[in-house]
Formats: sequence, structure tokens, C-alpha cells
Amino acid sequence: MSPHDPPSELASLARALARETQRREWHGQRQAEREGPPIGPETEVGSVRSAQPEVSATEAPPGQRNPADALTKNQQNAARAANLTELQRGIEACRACDLCHSRKNPVFAKGDGSSGVTFLNLAPGAAEEASGSPLAGPPGDLLDKIIIQGMKLTPQKTALVSLVQCRPPEDRAPSQQEVELCSPWFQRQLELLKSRILVPLGGPCAGSLLGLNPDLESLRGRIHRPEGPPVVPTHHPRELLKTPAAKAACWEDIQLTMKELGLPGGT
Ligand code: SF4
Repeated sequence: MSPHDPPSELASLARALARETQRREWHGQRQAEREGPPIGPETEVGSVRSAQPEVSATEAPPGQRNPADALTKNQQNAARAANLTELQRGIEACRACDLCHSRKNPVFAKGDGSSGVTFLNLAPGAAEEASGSPLAGPPGDLLDKIIIQGMKLTPQKTALVSLVQCRPPEDRAPSQQEVELCSPWFQRQLELLKSRILVPLGGPCAGSLLGLNPDLESLRGRIHRPEGPPVVPTHHPRELLKTPAAKAACWEDIQLTMKELGLPGGT
């Protein structure tokens, strides 16, 4: 057979290709050894882990997360956080639900909660995400007024916590699964703040917290005693700005809260 026969040329090409592949693999390996791990999201997560080994990120590509695994991981990470600073780092590294893709930054608890009362908002919106506070803008200002003028406390002595830490796209309501996946972070904030009474703001927040129908009128005006701190649902300050007549009912709920806490003025 002539050296220029097609089968012979093909065999020679195959051998050359194999040699080239081997050469490239060897060079690629040496290059990788010199450069270390690739730079990208994985490296970022790795550096969070090495800087803070006690709280690791919950990480999986979109569509490949197993919600049960993600919840277990969040529970483990939240339980490992020994203080609020560690907990905040864990939340910032969390990728357990798809809200991590649209959020700019998660919100975190505000106030030291030393009075025992913790106000709850369902999820951050645009103003909350921009400020980093669980409640911001005119509704946040109105809540401060209720605390200062009604409860005779400083906002710093109360706490404000979000059930879901990352802003849902276009400010839609968070899904039940998002609330559940985020619940270990939320619960651990309450533990570390030593919350003695919870005041969920608005029917959707109270309903999600208590696992009940989110109709506020059927929930407010009384103290719920589930496992954990007692719960006194009331109107969201956003509703009070739209419907000032609801302020009287809100004040009743706040007085109930003050009585439970043993604060003067509670009835
Ligand atoms: S909303 Fe909660 S569970 Fe989802 S990514 Fe943010 S911190 Fe994690």
C-alpha cells in the first residue's frame, strides 16, 4: 500500500492527533498547577468557607437544587452561627432559593431587640433592599413613630426582622417554599435577639408565620401562643398610611403587646 493511500493517511493523522492531545493535556495540567483553582463563583464561595468555616454557603445550580437538602443545609448553617455577625455572613452566602439570583443584597435584622419585642415584615421590597433594613421608607418611619410615641421606646431597643431575607423580583409575594427555605435564618435571628414577643405586620406576614389564613381581621386583636414566642398580628404600616382609620385597631394590638411585655401603658 502506498504511503499516500487514504487508510494509511488516516492512521497517521490519528496517531498525530493522539500525540497532540497528550501534549495538550500535560501542558494544561502543568498550567492548572501553576495557576491554582479557577476564579469565579466557586472560588468566591470557597473563600467565604475558608474565612468562616463554621457557616458554609448552600450552593447548587438553578433547577438542580433539592429543596429538602437546601433546607437541611440552611438549618445546619443557621444553627452553627454563634452570633448575629456570623449569621449575617451565612445569609449573604446563601444560594438556597432562586431569589439569590435577583437580589442585590439580603436584608438583615435591625435593632438590638433588648425590649423583647420583634416586629416582622414578610419580605423586602425595593426600599428595604436599597437601605438594607427589613422595613424602610414611609412605612418604616411610621413604625418608628408608633414605637417612640406609642410604646415610649427607642427603635434601637426593638428588633425588626424579615421572614424572607432576599427581595422577590418585581416585589411579588414570596412563595411558600421560599418562606420555608429561609425560615432557619429567620428563626435563628429571633433566637439570637432573644425575642419575647413577635408582632407580624400585615395579614400575609402573620398568616405565613402562624400557618393560618392570611386574613388579618381573623388573626389580629388577640395573642396567639404557638411554639416559641407569643404572636400579636397587627396592620402593616403601609396599610395604615392608606387607611388611617385602621390606626385605632393597630394601637389596640400594640397595647396588648405592651401588656404582655409588662411595659407601662399596656392594656
Ligand atoms: S431568600 Fe433566604 S433562602 Fe433564599 S437565597 Fe435568600 S437567604 Fe437564602
